[in-house]
Amino acid sequence: MSTEKDSGALDPQLLAVLACPLCDSRPPLNQQGSILVCTQCGARFPIRNGIPALRPGDALTDDATPDDSTDHE
Ligand SMILES: [Zn+2]
Repeated sequence: MSTEKDSGALDPQLLAVLACPLCDSRPPLNQQGSILVCTQCGARFPIRNGIPALRPGDALTDDATPDDSTDHE
């Protein structure tokens, strides 16, 4: 039996071990409402059903670019 949490707030201990998947230095993430924001690159990741979506493909972009138009050097 698992306790369901509706507050959207992550366990601080869980948040402490999370790191940005886009940064090699694995910087910590700040929770801002229902998203996590990388303190280094500013990438944003959604929290879905209380579970952080931290795959690179889950990153939220400002203008919601399709995945086939990545602007990468
Ligand atoms: Zn990052």
